[in-house]
Amino acid sequence: MAITKTNFINYSRCPRYVALDDLKKEKLQSMVSLAEYRKEEEEEYIKEILGNMFDDGGNDLIDTKNEHLEVMLPYYNMVELLAGDLAPKYFPGTFKYSKSTTDQESFDCMIDNIRYLCYVDIYNETADGFNIIEAKATTTKKYLDLGVKVKDDFGNSQVHSIFMKDEKGIYRLLEEMDVNIEDYMPREKYDVQRAKLFDKYSGPGHYVYDLAVQRYIIENDLKEHASLALVDKIHYYLTVLNSEYVFNGKYECGEPVYETDEQGNDIVAYFDLTKITEEYMVRVELDRQRIVSYIEKLCIDPCPLGIYCEKKKTTKCKYSGICWNILPEKNSIMAYLDGHHGFKDKEGNKYDRFDLINDGYVKMLDVPESLLNREKNIIQHRTVATGKPYMNMAKIRDGIKAIEYPIYHLDFETFPCPLPRYRGEKCYTQSVFQFSLHIEKEPGVCDKFKDHYEYLAPDHKDHREELVKKMCEWIGETGTVLVYNDSFEKTRLKELAELFPTYRTKLLKIRAMIFDLMNIVKTKSSLYESLGYDKKEASMFNYYHADMNGSFSIKKVLPLFSDLTYKGMEVGNGIDALVTYANFPKMNELDYKHKYQKLVEYCQQDTWAMFCVLEGLRASVLESVK
Ligand code: SF4
Repeated sequence: MAITKTNFINYSRCPRYVALDDLKKEKLQSMVSLAEYRKEEEEEYIKEILGNMFDDGGNDLIDTKNEHLEVMLPYYNMVELLAGDLAPKYFPGTFKYSKSTTDQESFDCMIDNIRYLCYVDIYNETADGFNIIEAKATTTKKYLDLGVKVKDDFGNSQVHSIFMKDEKGIYRLLEEMDVNIEDYMPREKYDVQRAKLFDKYSGPGHYVYDLAVQRYIIENDLKEHASLALVDKIHYYLTVLNSEYVFNGKYECGEPVYETDEQGNDIVAYFDLTKITEEYMVRVELDRQRIVSYIEKLCIDPCPLGIYCEKKKTTKCKYSGICWNILPEKNSIMAYLDGHHGFKDKEGNKYDRFDLINDGYVKMLDVPESLLNREKNIIQHRTVATGKPYMNMAKIRDGIKAIEYPIYHLDFETFPCPLPRYRGEKCYTQSVFQFSLHIEKEPGVCDKFKDHYEYLAPDHKDHREELVKKMCEWIGETGTVLVYNDSFEKTRLKELAELFPTYRTKLLKIRAMIFDLMNIVKTKSSLYESLGYDKKEASMFNYYHADMNGSFSIKKVLPLFSDLTYKGMEVGNGIDALVTYANFPKMNELDYKHKYQKLVEYCQQDTWAMFCVLEGLRASVLESVK
């Protein structure tokens, strides 16, 4: 049989994965063609891109569907090509990379009758050895954030990273540079951050493990072919999108040209992980031995659930639908807010969430109140146990009173493209292509259609200024700009203000007028402390209902206050919206008109939903004083 790098990573999750694969007769085959290999890698890779896209987006993570994969495929291919095109600037020698899929360097080895194989994204042969460069569509931020936060002389916070650029512009660990680590951070903190590179289920560690498996296969291939002397002459690099890079807006034949930016940044950056992957080899060998024993036993029996299932990530195990069905869909132990920190009894003994699940504590109510050390979890528990919603009516009432009229209910749709598309954008900038606005002049006075304003970019040209102009025209000078989960809209408005100086003052004014509706449902300590509540009460939820299932997203809150529903909508969530927009250029005129309208309806529904939630909250307050 043959095991690809991607399968190696998946098979090492747990004993059951390989047995389920065998049952489906999916992967335990003797040969893997390059086309199959590419397809398998593409799917995993695009799921990772989607994960990166919504790191900061305020969207609930999604189950990836084929259309999501298809729409992101060109970006996946582009990142690899850009990294290959830029590599000669950083490395001498000759290069082989994926301009043509038949032109990729491959390695394979046979251990215990199993063949392991991998293809290399960028293969670089130099005078004294070669470099393996793996391209990933994550960003430098994931790696440069490994470090300690410090304040500069002006009080701005910045991170002292465990990585630093060498004279060639390649990132290396501080320990490999001619510097004193203690000048950057205490050694123990450095070690803690460095250790994260070895956690394969963490953001940065995920890609390092991928490269380490690659190295393991390459080294064994070389040993098998008596090229042992070469093993020490190989360097292993990860190349990722540069989060500092700012696109200058230059195009050729309608396509962006990613020249070095004004600060000297290239669109991708390279990390030398030779030392880290070397340390990884022992672990990868142990993982390989585990995989062999899983294949020998092919035990289909349920195994303990764990972090390796990656349940709440886009990279979640494809069999989680089977293994996780022991948990109820609603109000399982996973719905406890902050449950990933575990639970604690009165004596201070800690209980890991997965340990509890594997001991049979699968429902929220299976966890006794005595193990709930966070007050919000006690509220969740009691709400589910009694079936009665929890409400702090005084806080809801005071929160509503703090809103000034008119209310501008505002919502953005964005496309967090891995590669910047317009001037001033960075990789994964949440590029605003649509907004919806409902204006509520007085409490409860708003017509779904007559008081609705919207803008949707008609195509993929840069329509941001047009969008900004409309928004600035329609939002007045006084009142409240109501959003749900304000950090998203606030960041977008700040970015737009920096890009369009003509509208800067107005955009910052709109930003200053923002009030977060979620604060009335969930709470916000600073708001409620300013309204006279003590610290403890200010920090506690204002509202919780068993149907929220541990989430304060508007999609969960809306049905509790209104009959309005997203069910049956052709574009029914943020991901559908961006996929529809991303597909505009591929549509015929008829489809385009239809989908355009569906996008308008979806965004309109989002702001109308905010109006309905606010109305529902007002009605609850009135009801409570009857
Ligand atoms: S869902 Fe978890 S336990 Fe089940 S096969 Fe996947 S990794 Fe293993």
